[in-house]
Amino acid sequence: MIVLDRDGVINRDSKEFIKSPEEWIPLPGSLEAIAELSRMGFRIAVATNQSGVGRGLFDQDTLDRIHARMIGSVEAAGGVISGVFVCPHHPDDGCDCRKPLPGLLRQIAARYAVSPKEMIVVGDSLRDLEAAVAVGAQPVLVRTGNGIATEKQAQQIDNIRIHNDLHDFTDSLTGQIGKPA
Ligand SMILES: [Mg+2]
Ligand SMILES: [Zn+2]
Repeated sequence: MIVLDRDGVINRDSKEFIKSPEEWIPLPGSLEAIAELSRMGFRIAVATNQSGVGRGLFDQDTLDRIHARMIGSVEAAGGVISGVFVCPHHPDDGCDCRKPLPGLLRQIAARYAVSPKEMIVVGDSLRDLEAAVAVGAQPVLVRTGNGIATEKQAQQIDNIRIHNDLHDFTDSLTGQIGKPA
């Protein structure tokens, strides 16, 4: 089971938030990487903080359309995203699913009946990695999105693996080109 953060891992991040399907733009090689992971037999889910909903910047219907575009783009490249798990809450809401809290990862583990310890969690921000550590999953940092800024802090994390991008991470699993950091 592979759990991907969305913004800065699959698509370009924006400080202004991704507020429409048109603003959802895949990072180079990310769709092909997900397709390759699918071919390798991994189940893939997305876990994403989308506080823009809680902040009133866009609504759930718009978020659903953004995710329909993402899923369609992945499918067109030959990959499968099994589920998209979202924290829509405002940071002040006190929910238990906004990363770095592990609620989304627990939801995914329950939905697919897998142990969190069998999950590989790929993210570009420290909170993605902290959520992974909280449930005993394998944390993987990619140097896209916030990844370069995150790298220094991430090196303190036990068992962290670091790759340039999703494609490089995928190559490390096939053992062809990349190698574990
Ligand atoms: Mg991110
Ligand atoms: Zn939440």
